[in-house]
Amino acid sequence: MKAVVGMMFKNMLDGIQFYRVYAARCGFDIRFSTVRKSKDGTITWKYILCNREGEKNAAVDFDATVDGVIDKRHKVSRRVRCRARVVLKSSGLDGYAFHFFEERHSHPLVSDKHKEFLKRMKLCSAFYFEYLVDGKYQLRHIFWADPISRRNFAAFGDSVSFDATYNTNRYKMVFTPFTGKDNHGKCVTFGVALLSSENTSISESANSFYGSFVNSNCNLVEFFMKYDSVIDAQRHAYAEMNSVDESTVPSLQTPILFEKHAVAVYTTNIFVKVQKEIYSACVKCRIMSITESEHQLFYNVNDGEGIFQVVYDSVEDIIVCSCAKFVREGLLCCHIYILLKDLNVDRIPDKYVVPRWTRYQSADNEDVQITSFINNISFR
Ligand SMILES: [Zn+2]
Ligand SMILES: [Zn+2]
Repeated sequence: MKAVVGMMFKNMLDGIQFYRVYAARCGFDIRFSTVRKSKDGTITWKYILCNREGEKNAAVDFDATVDGVIDKRHKVSRRVRCRARVVLKSSGLDGYAFHFFEERHSHPLVSDKHKEFLKRMKLCSAFYFEYLVDGKYQLRHIFWADPISRRNFAAFGDSVSFDATYNTNRYKMVFTPFTGKDNHGKCVTFGVALLSSENTSISESANSFYGSFVNSNCNLVEFFMKYDSVIDAQRHAYAEMNSVDESTVPSLQTPILFEKHAVAVYTTNIFVKVQKEIYSACVKCRIMSITESEHQLFYNVNDGEGIFQVVYDSVEDIIVCSCAKFVREGLLCCHIYILLKDLNVDRIPDKYVVPRWTRYQSADNEDVQITSFINNISFR
Protein backbone atom coordinates (compact mmCIF):
# COMPACT_ATOMS: atom_id res chain seq x y z
CA MET A 1 0.00 0.00 0.00
CA LYS A 2 1.48 3.25 -1.09
CA ALA A 3 0.29 6.70 -2.02
CA VAL A 4 1.12 7.85 -5.55
CA VAL A 5 0.62 11.14 -7.30
CA GLY A 6 -2.51 11.06 -9.43
CA MET A 7 -4.40 8.62 -7.26
CA MET A 8 -8.13 9.51 -7.42
CA PHE A 9 -10.78 9.51 -4.67
CA LYS A 10 -14.47 10.16 -5.12
CA ASN A 11 -14.43 12.62 -2.24
CA MET A 12 -11.99 14.30 0.12
CA LEU A 13 -12.73 12.09 3.12
CA ASP A 14 -11.79 8.97 1.15
CA GLY A 15 -8.46 10.58 0.31
CA ILE A 16 -7.83 11.50 3.93
CA GLN A 17 -8.82 8.02 5.07
CA PHE A 18 -6.42 6.43 2.60
CA TYR A 19 -3.50 8.52 3.85
CA ARG A 20 -4.48 7.86 7.45
CA VAL A 21 -4.33 4.09 6.95
CA TYR A 22 -1.10 4.41 4.98
CA ALA A 23 0.42 6.47 7.84
CA ALA A 24 -0.65 3.94 10.45
CA ARG A 25 0.97 1.11 8.50
CA CYS A 26 4.20 3.04 8.03
CA GLY A 27 4.28 4.17 11.63
CA PHE A 28 3.62 7.90 11.75
CA ASP A 29 0.75 10.16 12.74
CA ILE A 30 -0.83 12.75 10.52
CA ARG A 31 -2.15 16.22 11.02
CA PHE A 32 -3.97 18.66 8.80
CA SER A 33 -2.55 21.89 7.56
CA THR A 34 -3.34 24.56 4.97
CA VAL A 35 -6.57 24.38 2.99
CA ARG A 36 -7.49 26.51 0.04
CA LYS A 37 -11.07 27.13 -0.88
CA SER A 38 -12.82 28.34 -3.99
CA LYS A 39 -15.24 31.25 -3.87
CA ASP A 40 -18.19 28.93 -3.26
CA GLY A 41 -16.43 27.42 -0.22
CA THR A 42 -15.41 24.12 -1.81
CA ILE A 43 -12.02 22.91 -0.64
CA THR A 44 -9.66 22.88 -3.61
CA TRP A 45 -6.39 22.03 -1.87
CA LYS A 46 -5.79 20.21 1.39
CA TYR A 47 -2.37 19.55 2.92
CA ILE A 48 -1.97 16.49 5.15
CA LEU A 49 1.35 16.43 6.98
CA CYS A 50 3.39 14.13 9.08
CA ASN A 51 2.70 14.97 12.71
CA ARG A 52 6.37 15.75 13.23
CA GLU A 53 6.41 18.54 10.70
CA GLY A 54 7.43 22.02 11.73
CA GLU A 55 9.19 23.54 14.68
CA LYS A 56 6.29 25.40 16.15
CA ASN A 57 6.59 26.19 19.85
CA ALA A 58 10.16 24.96 19.84
CA ALA A 59 11.46 28.21 21.28
CA VAL A 60 8.84 28.11 24.01
CA ASP A 61 9.36 24.45 24.84
CA PHE A 62 13.07 24.65 25.28
CA ASP A 63 15.29 26.34 27.81
CA ALA A 64 18.77 26.96 26.56
CA THR A 65 21.44 26.09 29.06
CA VAL A 66 24.80 27.80 29.37
CA ASP A 67 26.71 25.56 27.03
CA GLY A 68 24.10 25.90 24.35
CA VAL A 69 22.61 22.46 24.84
CA ILE A 70 18.89 22.61 25.13
CA ASP A 71 17.33 20.86 28.03
CA LYS A 72 13.69 20.71 28.98
CA ARG A 73 12.92 17.33 30.34
CA HIS A 74 9.66 15.70 29.30
CA LYS A 75 8.65 18.77 27.34
CA VAL A 76 10.94 18.36 24.40
CA SER A 77 9.07 18.97 21.19
CA ARG A 78 8.85 15.96 18.94
CA ARG A 79 8.74 18.15 15.89
CA VAL A 80 11.69 17.62 13.63
CA ARG A 81 10.70 19.59 10.55
CA CYS A 82 9.62 16.45 8.75
CA ARG A 83 8.56 17.20 5.17
CA ALA A 84 6.55 14.05 4.49
CA ARG A 85 3.09 14.99 3.20
CA VAL A 86 0.41 14.69 0.57
CA VAL A 87 -1.64 17.39 -1.09
CA LEU A 88 -5.22 16.54 -2.05
CA LYS A 89 -6.44 18.61 -4.94
CA SER A 90 -9.99 18.94 -6.18
CA SER A 91 -10.59 17.60 -9.69
CA GLY A 92 -14.06 19.04 -9.90
CA LEU A 93 -16.75 16.44 -10.49
CA ASP A 94 -14.16 13.62 -10.61
CA GLY A 95 -13.47 14.06 -6.89
CA TYR A 96 -10.00 14.56 -5.40
CA ALA A 97 -6.51 13.45 -6.43
CA PHE A 98 -3.13 13.25 -4.76
CA HIS A 99 -1.46 16.20 -6.35
CA PHE A 100 1.82 15.99 -4.46
CA PHE A 101 3.38 13.24 -2.36
CA GLU A 102 6.56 13.37 -0.29
CA GLU A 103 7.34 9.91 1.01
CA ARG A 104 10.55 10.58 2.96
CA HIS A 105 10.59 11.35 6.66
CA SER A 106 13.36 13.10 8.57
CA HIS A 107 13.04 10.73 11.52
CA PRO A 108 12.66 6.99 12.21
CA LEU A 109 9.17 5.53 11.81
CA VAL A 110 7.56 3.40 14.46
CA SER A 111 6.01 0.34 12.91
CA ASP A 112 3.13 -1.70 14.35
CA LYS A 113 5.25 -4.29 16.06
CA HIS A 114 6.98 -1.60 18.09
CA LYS A 115 3.90 0.34 19.00
CA GLU A 116 2.87 -1.98 21.79
CA PHE A 117 6.19 -1.39 23.47
CA LEU A 118 6.00 2.38 23.17
CA LYS A 119 2.42 2.36 24.39
CA ARG A 120 3.46 0.41 27.43
CA MET A 121 6.17 2.94 28.12
CA LYS A 122 3.78 5.85 27.83
CA LEU A 123 1.00 4.32 29.90
CA CYS A 124 3.18 3.20 32.71
CA SER A 125 3.67 6.23 34.88
CA ALA A 126 6.27 4.42 36.95
CA PHE A 127 8.42 4.08 33.87
CA TYR A 128 11.14 6.62 34.25
CA PHE A 129 12.11 8.04 30.91
CA GLU A 130 14.16 11.07 30.21
CA TYR A 131 15.88 12.40 27.17
CA LEU A 132 17.68 15.46 25.99
CA VAL A 133 17.69 16.94 22.53
CA ASP A 134 20.16 19.59 21.48
CA GLY A 135 19.70 22.71 19.38
CA LYS A 136 20.14 20.72 16.18
CA TYR A 137 17.34 18.33 17.16
CA GLN A 138 19.90 15.61 17.74
CA LEU A 139 19.31 13.21 20.57
CA ARG A 140 22.05 13.65 23.15
CA HIS A 141 21.06 11.19 25.81
CA ILE A 142 18.25 8.95 26.96
CA PHE A 143 17.86 7.42 30.36
CA TRP A 144 15.21 4.89 31.21
CA ALA A 145 14.24 2.62 34.08
CA ASP A 146 11.07 0.55 34.33
CA PRO A 147 9.20 -0.10 37.60
CA ILE A 148 11.08 -3.32 38.38
CA SER A 149 14.42 -1.60 37.82
CA ARG A 150 13.30 1.08 40.22
CA ARG A 151 12.35 -1.42 42.89
CA ASN A 152 15.71 -3.10 42.38
CA PHE A 153 17.31 0.25 42.98
CA ALA A 154 15.32 0.70 46.19
CA ALA A 155 16.41 -2.70 47.45
CA PHE A 156 20.00 -2.88 46.24
CA GLY A 157 20.98 0.62 45.15
CA ASP A 158 23.38 1.12 48.05
CA SER A 159 26.19 0.82 45.56
CA VAL A 160 25.95 1.60 41.89
CA SER A 161 28.45 1.24 39.13
CA PHE A 162 28.15 2.26 35.55
CA ASP A 163 30.03 0.87 32.70
CA ALA A 164 30.06 2.63 29.38
CA THR A 165 30.34 0.39 26.37
CA TYR A 166 30.84 1.72 22.91
CA ASN A 167 27.95 0.97 20.77
CA THR A 168 27.86 0.94 17.03
CA ASN A 169 24.15 1.37 16.65
CA ARG A 170 23.22 3.74 13.91
CA TYR A 171 22.93 6.72 16.25
CA LYS A 172 26.53 6.31 17.41
CA MET A 173 25.53 6.37 21.03
CA VAL A 174 27.28 4.92 24.03
CA PHE A 175 25.36 2.29 25.92
CA THR A 176 25.68 2.78 29.67
CA PRO A 177 23.97 0.37 32.06
CA PHE A 178 23.70 1.32 35.73
CA THR A 179 24.17 -1.83 37.72
CA GLY A 180 24.68 -3.20 41.19
CA LYS A 181 24.50 -6.50 43.05
CA ASP A 182 21.33 -8.16 44.25
CA ASN A 183 21.04 -10.16 47.49
CA HIS A 184 22.49 -13.21 45.72
CA GLY A 185 25.55 -11.22 44.75
CA LYS A 186 24.53 -11.22 41.08
CA CYS A 187 24.41 -8.36 38.62
CA VAL A 188 21.17 -6.36 38.72
CA THR A 189 20.22 -3.48 36.44
CA PHE A 190 18.83 -0.21 37.81
CA GLY A 191 18.47 1.57 34.51
CA VAL A 192 20.28 2.33 31.36
CA ALA A 193 21.38 5.38 29.44
CA LEU A 194 22.35 5.99 25.85
CA LEU A 195 24.78 8.85 25.61
CA SER A 196 25.80 10.67 22.48
CA SER A 197 29.36 9.59 21.72
CA GLU A 198 30.27 13.03 20.36
CA ASN A 199 30.33 14.67 23.76
CA THR A 200 31.35 11.68 25.78
CA SER A 201 34.88 10.47 26.19
CA ILE A 202 34.68 7.16 27.94
CA SER A 203 37.12 4.36 27.42
CA GLU A 204 35.89 1.30 25.65
CA SER A 205 35.24 -1.71 27.80
CA ALA A 206 33.69 -5.07 27.24
CA ASN A 207 30.59 -5.96 29.15
CA SER A 208 29.83 -9.60 28.56
CA PHE A 209 26.37 -9.41 30.01
CA TYR A 210 25.11 -6.88 27.51
CA GLY A 211 27.62 -7.64 24.81
CA SER A 212 25.25 -9.83 22.86
CA PHE A 213 23.16 -6.95 21.68
CA VAL A 214 24.92 -3.64 22.06
CA ASN A 215 27.01 -4.06 18.97
CA SER A 216 24.18 -4.43 16.56
CA ASN A 217 23.16 -1.96 13.95
CA CYS A 218 19.63 -1.45 15.17
CA ASN A 219 17.36 1.53 15.47
CA LEU A 220 16.36 2.93 18.81
CA VAL A 221 13.10 1.04 19.19
CA GLU A 222 14.73 -2.25 18.23
CA PHE A 223 17.38 -1.43 20.76
CA PHE A 224 14.80 -0.93 23.50
CA MET A 225 13.20 -4.23 22.67
CA LYS A 226 16.46 -6.15 22.73
CA TYR A 227 17.34 -4.50 26.00
CA ASP A 228 13.96 -5.55 27.33
CA SER A 229 14.57 -9.19 26.48
CA VAL A 230 18.00 -9.20 28.10
CA ILE A 231 16.53 -7.68 31.25
CA ASP A 232 13.75 -10.27 31.20
CA ALA A 233 16.39 -12.98 31.21
CA GLN A 234 18.15 -11.34 34.15
CA ARG A 235 14.90 -11.20 36.11
CA HIS A 236 14.06 -14.76 35.24
CA ALA A 237 17.44 -15.84 36.65
CA TYR A 238 16.71 -13.82 39.78
CA ALA A 239 13.34 -15.52 40.28
CA GLU A 240 14.99 -18.92 39.75
CA MET A 241 17.57 -18.19 42.41
CA ASN A 242 14.88 -17.12 44.86
CA SER A 243 12.97 -20.33 44.30
CA VAL A 244 16.12 -22.44 44.73
CA ASP A 245 16.68 -20.65 48.04
CA GLU A 246 13.17 -21.45 49.15
CA SER A 247 13.38 -25.13 48.34
CA THR A 248 16.91 -26.06 49.42
CA VAL A 249 18.96 -25.66 52.57
CA PRO A 250 22.77 -25.85 52.27
CA SER A 251 24.39 -28.29 54.70
CA LEU A 252 26.20 -26.97 57.76
CA GLN A 253 29.91 -27.52 58.32
CA THR A 254 30.18 -26.78 62.04
CA PRO A 255 28.04 -27.33 65.14
CA ILE A 256 28.17 -23.60 65.87
CA LEU A 257 24.72 -22.13 66.46
CA PHE A 258 25.33 -18.93 64.56
CA GLU A 259 26.08 -20.94 61.41
CA LYS A 260 22.53 -22.23 61.72
CA HIS A 261 21.34 -18.66 62.13
CA ALA A 262 23.35 -17.62 59.04
CA VAL A 263 21.82 -20.31 56.83
CA ALA A 264 18.36 -19.11 57.85
CA VAL A 265 18.92 -15.46 57.03
CA TYR A 266 21.30 -15.23 54.07
CA THR A 267 20.62 -16.17 50.47
CA THR A 268 22.42 -19.35 49.45
CA ASN A 269 25.08 -17.59 47.38
CA ILE A 270 25.90 -15.26 50.25
CA PHE A 271 25.69 -18.00 52.88
CA VAL A 272 28.44 -19.89 51.05
CA LYS A 273 30.73 -16.90 51.65
CA VAL A 274 29.65 -16.54 55.28
CA GLN A 275 30.13 -20.25 55.88
CA LYS A 276 33.69 -20.06 54.58
CA GLU A 277 34.49 -17.41 57.22
CA ILE A 278 32.81 -19.38 60.03
CA TYR A 279 34.69 -22.50 58.97
CA SER A 280 37.98 -20.55 58.92
CA ALA A 281 37.22 -19.24 62.40
CA CYS A 282 37.06 -22.86 63.56
CA VAL A 283 40.00 -24.41 61.73
CA LYS A 284 42.43 -21.62 60.83
CA CYS A 285 42.12 -18.92 63.46
CA ARG A 286 43.84 -18.90 66.82
CA ILE A 287 43.30 -16.41 69.62
CA MET A 288 46.79 -15.14 70.53
CA SER A 289 45.78 -12.89 73.42
CA ILE A 290 42.79 -11.31 75.09
CA THR A 291 43.07 -8.10 77.07
CA GLU A 292 40.31 -6.34 78.91
CA SER A 293 39.74 -2.72 79.78
CA GLU A 294 36.73 -1.13 81.50
CA HIS A 295 34.13 -2.13 78.95
CA GLN A 296 36.23 -3.34 76.04
CA LEU A 297 37.73 -6.66 75.03
CA PHE A 298 40.77 -6.74 72.74
CA TYR A 299 41.43 -9.95 70.84
CA ASN A 300 44.55 -10.64 68.81
CA VAL A 301 43.68 -13.23 66.21
CA ASN A 302 46.10 -15.12 63.97
CA ASP A 303 44.36 -16.52 60.90
CA GLY A 304 47.48 -18.20 59.51
CA GLU A 305 48.25 -15.33 57.18
CA GLY A 306 48.45 -12.45 59.59
CA ILE A 307 47.46 -11.10 62.98
CA PHE A 308 44.36 -8.94 63.35
CA GLN A 309 42.94 -6.91 66.21
CA VAL A 310 39.29 -7.34 67.12
CA VAL A 311 37.64 -5.00 69.61
CA TYR A 312 34.35 -5.69 71.34
CA ASP A 313 32.83 -2.72 73.12
CA SER A 314 30.02 -3.80 75.46
CA VAL A 315 28.73 -0.27 76.08
CA GLU A 316 28.58 0.79 72.44
CA ASP A 317 27.67 -2.80 71.54
CA ILE A 318 29.99 -2.85 68.56
CA ILE A 319 32.59 -5.27 67.21
CA VAL A 320 35.31 -3.95 64.95
CA CYS A 321 38.13 -5.82 63.20
CA SER A 322 41.28 -4.31 61.77
CA CYS A 323 40.81 -6.21 58.49
CA ALA A 324 37.67 -4.08 57.82
CA LYS A 325 35.95 -6.80 55.80
CA PHE A 326 32.56 -5.83 57.20
CA VAL A 327 33.04 -2.22 56.14
CA ARG A 328 33.95 -3.30 52.61
CA GLU A 329 31.49 -6.12 52.03
CA GLY A 330 28.79 -6.01 54.69
CA LEU A 331 29.83 -9.50 55.84
CA LEU A 332 31.69 -10.42 59.01
CA CYS A 333 35.21 -11.87 58.91
CA CYS A 334 36.56 -15.04 60.50
CA HIS A 335 38.32 -12.92 63.15
CA ILE A 336 35.02 -11.64 64.46
CA TYR A 337 33.43 -15.07 64.21
CA ILE A 338 36.09 -16.56 66.48
CA LEU A 339 35.32 -13.82 69.01
CA LEU A 340 31.58 -14.59 68.81
CA LYS A 341 32.38 -18.28 69.28
CA ASP A 342 34.61 -17.52 72.23
CA LEU A 343 31.86 -15.48 73.87
CA ASN A 344 29.29 -18.24 73.22
CA VAL A 345 27.08 -16.00 71.12
CA ASP A 346 24.38 -18.05 69.39
CA ARG A 347 23.24 -15.54 66.77
CA ILE A 348 24.97 -13.10 64.48
CA PRO A 349 24.08 -9.74 66.06
CA ASP A 350 21.23 -8.12 64.08
CA LYS A 351 23.21 -4.99 63.32
CA TYR A 352 25.79 -7.13 61.49
CA VAL A 353 23.24 -8.86 59.30
CA VAL A 354 22.98 -6.38 56.46
CA PRO A 355 19.46 -6.63 54.97
CA ARG A 356 20.67 -6.37 51.36
CA TRP A 357 22.26 -9.87 51.59
CA THR A 358 19.28 -11.58 53.17
CA ARG A 359 16.55 -13.74 51.73
CA TYR A 360 14.00 -11.19 52.89
CA GLN A 361 15.43 -8.37 50.86
CA SER A 362 13.44 -8.47 47.72
CA ALA A 363 12.94 -6.19 44.80
CA ASP A 364 9.23 -7.01 45.05
CA ASN A 365 8.29 -4.96 48.05
CA GLU A 366 9.73 -1.50 47.76
CA ASP A 367 9.58 1.47 45.48
CA VAL A 368 11.48 4.69 45.50
CA GLN A 369 11.97 7.85 43.55
CA ILE A 370 15.19 7.44 41.66
CA THR A 371 14.85 10.89 40.22
CA SER A 372 17.24 12.40 42.72
CA PHE A 373 19.78 9.72 41.96
CA ILE A 374 19.48 10.31 38.25
CA ASN A 375 19.64 14.05 38.62
CA ASN A 376 22.92 13.71 40.43
CA ILE A 377 24.54 12.00 37.50
CA SER A 378 26.17 14.31 35.06
CA PHE A 379 25.81 13.29 31.46
CA ARG A 380 28.09 15.96 30.10
ZN1 LIG B 1 7.53 12.37 9.32
ZN1 LIG C 1 38.80 -9.42 60.43
